Amino acid sequence: LTAAGAPGPGPGGLRRAIGIDIGGTGLKLGLVATGEPPSVTGVQVLAGHGDEPPAVVLDQVAATVRGLLDDEGVSLGELAGVGIGCAGLVDSCRGVLRTSPNLPAWRDVPLVAELEQRLGVRALLVNDAQAFLAAEWLAGAARGFDDALILTLGTGVGGGLILGGRPYRGAGGLGAEIGHMSLDLDGPTCACGNRGCFELFVARAAIERLAAESGLAADGADTPKRVFQRAEAGDDRAVRLFAEIGRRLGAGLAGLVNLLEPRVIVVGGGIAAAGRYIFPAATRELGVRSMVARTAPPPIREAEHGPGAGLIGAALLAAREEPLFT
Ligand SMILES: [Zn+2]
Repeated sequence: LTAAGAPGPGPGGLRRAIGIDIGGTGLKLGLVATGEPPSVTGVQVLAGHGDEPPAVVLDQVAATVRGLLDDEGVSLGELAGVGIGCAGLVDSCRGVLRTSPNLPAWRDVPLVAELEQRLGVRALLVNDAQAFLAAEWLAGAARGFDDALILTLGTGVGGGLILGGRPYRGAGGLGAEIGHMSLDLDGPTCACGNRGCFELFVARAAIERLAAESGLAADGADTPKRVFQRAEAGDDRAVRLFAEIGRRLGAGLAGLVNLLEPRVIVVGGGIAAAGRYIFPAATRELGVRSMVARTAPPPIREAEHGPGAGLIGAALLAAREEPLFT
C-alpha cells in the first residue's frame, strides 16, 4: 500500500477497507474502496444480533467478512482496516463499546481487540454520528469544505461540526450535540434533561404531531415517509407541513450559523429525502434570522450517501493512516 492517509489518492492508490454499521435492527457490512466516489461492494446484513452474546456475533461477523472477501477476490492482507460504526457511548481510543441503544445487553465490549484477534487486521470503532460525518466530509456533500455543519434528521437530530479543517467534538468528545440546544426555554421536556430542544421541533416526533394536527396521519406507520409521499402526490397539507419543518430548521440553524459561519450545511437522515420541500423554507428563514447568513449564506445540501453512510464512513476512517478523531 503506497497511498498516503487521505482517501481518494487517485487511480492505483485506492485503499480497501471493510465497513460495519451496527444498527438497531441489523448489522450491515461491506467492502469499500476509497475513491471519488468510494465504491461499496458485497454488502451483507446480519439480523437479530441484539439478542446474541458479543462473542457469537463477532464470530459470525469474522466469518462473513472472510466469505465476502473471497467473493470479491480480495485477501485479508490487502485490507487497510476494518471500521465499525455504532450508536451509543463509544470509547474510540480503547476500541470499546461501552453502551448502545442498539445493543442493550452489551456492556464494555472490546470490539476492536476482539475483531483484530479474529481477522488479524487493524480495526477502529467510532459512533454513528462520527461515521456519518466522515462519509459526508471525506467523500460526500461536504467534501473539500474546511467549515461545515453536518446533521442528520431522523428520530432525533445528530451530526457534527467541521471547523478549520478538522472535526470538532469539544474538549472530551462529548460536544457538538446540535439537537440539544433549547429553542424554547419553557418548551417540552427532552430525554436529555433540557427543555424545548431543537430536535423536538424538527425530527420525527414533530412531523408526527404536525401530521396529526393537519389530518395527515392515519396509523402508526412511517409518518415522515407517508407525508413525503403525500407531498409528492401534490397534497398541499403535506407540502405546508415540510415547509413548517424547514422554517423551524432554519430558525435552529440561525444561531449556529451566527456562531460558526459554516460554508455549507449538509442534512442527511431519513427525513432529508424530503429536502426539496424543507430546504427552501430553511434557507429563507436562515436569511431572515441570521446576520451571518445574510452576508455569507451557506447552501443547505442533502447528504450524498443515504442509508449507506455509516458503513462507508467507518470504512473510510479505517482506510486512513492517520486517525481523524483523536
Ligand atoms: Zn435535548
